[in-house]
Amino acid sequence: MTSYDLFVIGAGSGGVRAARIAAAHGAKVAIAEEYRVGGTCVIRGCVPKKLLVYGAHFAEDLKDARRFGWDVPECDFNWPTLRDNVLADVDRLNGAYTSTLASHDVEVFLERATVSSPQEVTLASGRRISAKHILIATGAWPVTPDIEGAEHGITSNEVFHLEKMPRRAVIAGGGYIANEFAGIFHEFSCDVTLVNRSDTILRGYDRQIVERLLATSMAKGINFRLNAEFEKIEKLDDGSLRLHFKDGEPIETDLLMFATGRRPHTQGLGLENAGIALDNQGAVIVDDYNRSSCKSIYAVGDVTNRVQLTPVAIREGHAFADTVFGGNPRTVDYDCIPSAVFSHPPIAGVGLTESEAREKLGTVKVYTSDFRAMKNVLAGRDERALYKMIVDDTTGRVVGLHMIGPDAPEILQAAAVAVKAGLTKQAFDDTVALHPSMAEELVLLK
Ligand code: NDP
Repeated sequence: MTSYDLFVIGAGSGGVRAARIAAAHGAKVAIAEEYRVGGTCVIRGCVPKKLLVYGAHFAEDLKDARRFGWDVPECDFNWPTLRDNVLADVDRLNGAYTSTLASHDVEVFLERATVSSPQEVTLASGRRISAKHILIATGAWPVTPDIEGAEHGITSNEVFHLEKMPRRAVIAGGGYIANEFAGIFHEFSCDVTLVNRSDTILRGYDRQIVERLLATSMAKGINFRLNAEFEKIEKLDDGSLRLHFKDGEPIETDLLMFATGRRPHTQGLGLENAGIALDNQGAVIVDDYNRSSCKSIYAVGDVTNRVQLTPVAIREGHAFADTVFGGNPRTVDYDCIPSAVFSHPPIAGVGLTESEAREKLGTVKVYTSDFRAMKNVLAGRDERALYKMIVDDTTGRVVGLHMIGPDAPEILQAAAVAVKAGLTKQAFDDTVALHPSMAEELVLLK
């Protein structure tokens, strides 16, 4: 039986980072992947989604260009061209990730692996492999609600491969994926309705910022149906769908996409063969050093359901490899993780929301800037940005920064350094504005 120091199951962001760093520390490493090297982020998540967001934004840019003097003829959008170019880029990245593993002497098995004991995995081909350590990095998988006809809907796994752009689309869910794809489909001239079970969207984000996204999205023409519970999905003779709700009128649509959360991908992995404890969501329970209840088996990334974000999985994978193979035990700092929703316009935030800060700190000061970006003014685009800074009234420290507006994620990433470093509102005030820019609003808040 071949033996390795580390066998990684799942070649996504966390698994690949862990494999390559462990190999760089001198470990003999193998990795198994049943689909494509790169994982959700690269193959069917962040990367292709962001490329679609860029593609979608041209709908507004081309219109606005006329106000800037460009003679733009009526333009047609061709979905297959964008889809195929995006998928070609995914192929390129898949190749790049595969080469990185090869250049670090990580052996890749392109087949499913399951855990057969604390120090052994079995490949789909039947081959058994022993390893001193096993890392579970199998990510998460979209959840679809248990309703009659749910099989007629798609998830974010399939959306990048659509044969044609639908005329009408309903997106179920009100989180990251739902809001990002509502924007994408809408910009591609699709009639979009976002349906969520609760009375809000983007739970966890600052309410005022979310309200602004709702208002802006509705003004653009995206429909929202909140507090809506599906009853069943009916497929009609012409291939379209009729969505029935417990209350309210049915909706007819050409495409239904479920964006109702993602669950840790642990089913059928044989984790019971090593006595690995899971939580009630099916996530692998790990300690601060990513170790599971079985001492030779670790887990990183979405499969642990701590923070479902790529950069976090990468940090966990790296910390695991340094701890176990680099003689440098270390944990990941989960405080002040910035995040963004690539909606139209995008949202970004770091630190406490206003309500979290009030609950945690008592007295807080809130500074806002509600403005129309210069470019939108000339374009005649009636769309306002909103920046919000939450300050601890006792110490003057900035404890939260939340934004909606053009390029908000790009601006917030830089500002997050200041929030993470614990800088005060005074430190922002002491910084001279960079004029004219949108980001200067952050140092001009009164
Ligand atoms: P989210 O957790 O963001 O949102 C799930 C949504 O679905 C919520 O609105 C929730 O409703 C609703 N929902 C949950 N369960 C059900 C159910 N059984 N029936 C009906 N509705 C339901 O999930 P996403 O799928 O959008 O994204 C998954 C994860 O992927 C995110 O948590 C995020 O970490 C990551 N991601 C990050 C991105 C980024 O960084 N830009 C982009 C895309 C994904 P309710 O309002 O009641 O909570």
